[in-house]
Amino acid sequence: MNPMCSKCERVVYPVEKLNCLDKFWHKSCFTCEVCQMALNMRNYKGFNKRPYCNAHYPSATFTVVADTPENLRLKAQSEKQSTVTLPSFTRPTCSSRPGVSESHC
Ligand SMILES: [Zn+2]
Ligand SMILES: [Zn+2]
Repeated sequence: MNPMCSKCERVVYPVEKLNCLDKFWHKSCFTCEVCQMALNMRNYKGFNKRPYCNAHYPSATFTVVADTPENLRLKAQSEKQSTVTLPSFTRPTCSSRPGVSESHC
């Protein structure tokens, strides 16, 4: 007996069968949940037993992306900006700054 396609719920015949994420799919039904881009065994990302493309993989932003040095740097930068820019707006321009710029005033 042939299994059912997890996407369109029709029978999958061996010739078009894709076995992935513990389910069976027509090769043409194995597409990104978000953009419907055609996927294959090499480029899909499984999440919640559903296939996603690289761009739409839901947890990519939390795990894969956050781990890269570039993104850690960007994250640190944006945190720094959000904490530093706010007080510098309320602070008088020069008076409370030690050293360098004091003589400038
Ligand atoms: Zn199908
Ligand atoms: Zn996608």
